[in-house]
Amino acid sequence: MTSVPSVADRIESELAPLRRSVSLAWWNLNGAANEENERRRVELETALSDFLADGDRFEAVEAARGGAEGLERRRLDLLHDLFVAEQIPAELRSRIIELEASTEVHFSQHRGAIDDRRVDDNEIKQILRESDDVEERRAAWEAAKTVGVVVADDVRELARLRNAAAHAVGYRDWFALSVATSELDEERLMATLDEADRATAEPFASWKAELDTRLAARFGCSSSDLAPWHYADPFFQEVPVEGGVDLDPWLEGADLIELARRTFDGIGLETRAVLARSDLFPRDGKCQHAFCIDVDRGGDVRVLANVSPGVYWMDTMLHELGHATFDLGFDGSLPWLLRDCHLVLTEGIAILMGRLAGEAEWLEGVLGVDRDEVVRIAADLRAARAAELLVFTRWVLVMTNFERSLYADPESDLDARWWELVERYQLVAPPAGRSNPDWAAKIHIACAPVYYHTYLYGQIVASQIAATICPYK
Ligand SMILES: [Zn+2]
Repeated sequence: MTSVPSVADRIESELAPLRRSVSLAWWNLNGAANEENERRRVELETALSDFLADGDRFEAVEAARGGAEGLERRRLDLLHDLFVAEQIPAELRSRIIELEASTEVHFSQHRGAIDDRRVDDNEIKQILRESDDVEERRAAWEAAKTVGVVVADDVRELARLRNAAAHAVGYRDWFALSVATSELDEERLMATLDEADRATAEPFASWKAELDTRLAARFGCSSSDLAPWHYADPFFQEVPVEGGVDLDPWLEGADLIELARRTFDGIGLETRAVLARSDLFPRDGKCQHAFCIDVDRGGDVRVLANVSPGVYWMDTMLHELGHATFDLGFDGSLPWLLRDCHLVLTEGIAILMGRLAGEAEWLEGVLGVDRDEVVRIAADLRAARAAELLVFTRWVLVMTNFERSLYADPESDLDARWWELVERYQLVAPPAGRSNPDWAAKIHIACAPVYYHTYLYGQIVASQIAATICPYK
């Protein structure tokens, strides 16, 4: 007996191929930021958006939702969240799609410069990790911010357009809409952030005071003379080696892809097919970040990365393959809409995998570091993990509070607001007289908006899973 297709069945069968095409176009544009790929992405995103904007279809979802139960209800709820944000004028939708694509192209094409020499993000980070030359560090830090100047007006305009879209469907602003349609409660989110602030403020301040003492000794200045470029990355979102454990020497000359593959082999998770269709190394005109994409929820999962030596990219490869293996693990007999999960959960799994790169067991079992050495640094590794969580939590507080301000009032003095938050949560003062859209240099604000809190929840999920499966740690 064949059953009558439900509303969810019907919409899903049309939605899946549209999403697949958009995913491929998105993948292509991130790999090669050129006009043809940009045009194609805008075209396909518009087709998807037109599909989701269709009022009759949305009405059918809403009507069916009322009486639905179980998995059918779940699919309709997911469809509701996809459709609701698109019930806005076509003109507004197309302006958002075009501006998002062109901003992403700017990020992929832009490279900072030090003394007229183009430098990519990996080189900037290497200077900030290794160089003792303060002028060079300053130049590298400045180079990391120049993309902000290029995109700031567009990001502000995107915030206005996204807000207009949110207003059109009855939300306060785009922050509120995003949180609601990703199944989070805004009040609860802000309460969690406040709690994270209270829990970390003091331990972070005392850890950072110690770090600053070490950095001041390294650079031959006093703690009060430290500037943002004395930390080890452009946004102080990572732990400088002075505040943790330097794992880079152990990874020197190592094949990070092979180590990642071996790590997952050890867990019994297959990554060869994913790695084979991935785009893993840096080149011009390519997105400088990393992500995993499930193209079709049917096995075509890929990773984009820019692997270069060191623990940062080791952690990132394990993280992205964490996403990939999780995506591949969905039961293929589930309807397409359900072969996915909440972002907080997949981020949690990815973070759990990324963390392995700083674990004693991994260093010994996968990297082959001598057991005595691992035992010797085990306590330092645990302290480094705690420092990482402190640093990252403070950084999420900057990002999420900033994005809330951005959408609350895109016309406000965002340059000042950014540094006010950096100073408050990260205890880093702006360089004297700094007036620059440094906030716009962080790609997530433009291209993965109102997402950053997901990483904090992901850290919480990862810690809870770890505590459950290894309760002795
Ligand atoms: Zn992730």
